[in-house]
Amino acid sequence: MAAAEKIYNDSRLAARNGAAEPKRLVVLGGGESGAGAAVLGKTKGMDVWLSDMGSIADEHKATLKQYGILFEEGTHTEDKILNADLIIKSPGIPPTAPIMRKIAEKKIPVISEIEFAGRYTDAKMVCITGSNGKTTTTLLIYHILKKGGLNVGLAGNVGKSLALQVAVDPHDVYVVELSSFQLENMYDFKAHIAVLLNITPDHLDRYDHSMEKYASAKYRILRNQTAADSFIYWLDDPIVSRQVRQAQIEALCLPFSDHPHEGCAAWLEEGIVHFTTPEEIWEIPRDRISLPGLHNLYNSMAAGLSASMLRIRKEKIREALEDFEAVEHRLEHVATINGITYINDSKATNVNSTWYALESMTTPTILILGGKDKGNDYTEIEHLVADKVKAIVCMGVDNTKLLDFFGSKVSNIADTHSLEDAVAAARGFAAEGDTVLLSPCCASFDLFKSYEDRGRRFKAEVMKLL
Ligand code: ADP
Repeated sequence: MAAAEKIYNDSRLAARNGAAEPKRLVVLGGGESGAGAAVLGKTKGMDVWLSDMGSIADEHKATLKQYGILFEEGTHTEDKILNADLIIKSPGIPPTAPIMRKIAEKKIPVISEIEFAGRYTDAKMVCITGSNGKTTTTLLIYHILKKGGLNVGLAGNVGKSLALQVAVDPHDVYVVELSSFQLENMYDFKAHIAVLLNITPDHLDRYDHSMEKYASAKYRILRNQTAADSFIYWLDDPIVSRQVRQAQIEALCLPFSDHPHEGCAAWLEEGIVHFTTPEEIWEIPRDRISLPGLHNLYNSMAAGLSASMLRIRKEKIREALEDFEAVEHRLEHVATINGITYINDSKATNVNSTWYALESMTTPTILILGGKDKGNDYTEIEHLVADKVKAIVCMGVDNTKLLDFFGSKVSNIADTHSLEDAVAAARGFAAEGDTVLLSPCCASFDLFKSYEDRGRRFKAEVMKLL
């Protein structure tokens, strides 16, 4: 057994055995989830202490102080940590970190903030995971449920910490975005509605470069589901459907597809999207769905099915699918200037998401891509580039790999190292009716602080063309 797996299994056993009434709670990591977990522990009468190896943001410090929670930053005081009955670990801390090994040796139970929060609420949980599309689908489901009149909270990677809401602002239903990191250290938590959008390689470095391990982290979303729960997934994803065939799934399975298929709960047929659940049968013309692109058709199907299972009326779901506005940095329309449309898809940090962005393009496209390459295989988008892209603008500190790969495949390619130059080059290649698409395929950290920073600066640069 690999070391990381052993630690993981030990912690899991310890978590099971030690789940009853902890007194001394240690929270590792003082971000949104850690600060929220600390507040929940405090409101439940536990002796709470929070430790963060890095620095804690002012807003989280203020929350901790408000609730009288003691904390440290820039260090981990081991004897205090190892004295805990229960540890809540931020998803950002890998199970192989030195402190986690010591915790595992002492067999102190380690759980996630989501697991902890789940112990103190009976609310219904709608949980969304997958490699791509989580945030969009989570926000879309939240939008529909809100419109449908439910008392709903938004949590996980987006929104406020689930634990904090359970502690001080409880809701009847939560829509929770879960990354594979968040699914680690979850044991008794149950998703009443689990959505698994897709599984493509990403973050493999955290899973010993094993697709199998990465995928099994995602399947943890099915844990503890019973016949009263639902599992919504994309039928045509080869990895997900293989697992579905092999696993014994108790929940009601509601697969979706972009073509009719026996057993599908949502599918596209001659321009109409059909939904069939035990709660409701309804349909919507595809062109009435506000979000563009095939990927967003999938996201909308997953959202429509989730809402149906929560008995939102079909009229409300339709209305919400029609008026939902694009999420920032995800195929976000920036402006149309001199007949050229500018689209910000800065969140596309892997090849698969750029594939979907290109797939949704309906005009000749000038593609801005580049950044920190995570071992990308660009052959996946080669065909779409040949079909739709008239020029590529590489934007990164080192564009060698992109220039080598695409240099002979497109007639126009530019080598730029700043956003200003990239937008100017794209503008130079574009003619009226074209689209300039920032969909970088890569992480942003070579030139930018984050994908948000990259997207906002792109938008600002485009607005200067007005
Ligand atoms: P996540 O939260 O999983 O990173 P987002 O909703 O933020 O996903 O979308 C990130 C990018 O992934 C988008 O810019 C889009 O290009 C692509 N994307 C969105 N939904 C899907 C999907 N269902 N399948 C594949 N790619 C998608």
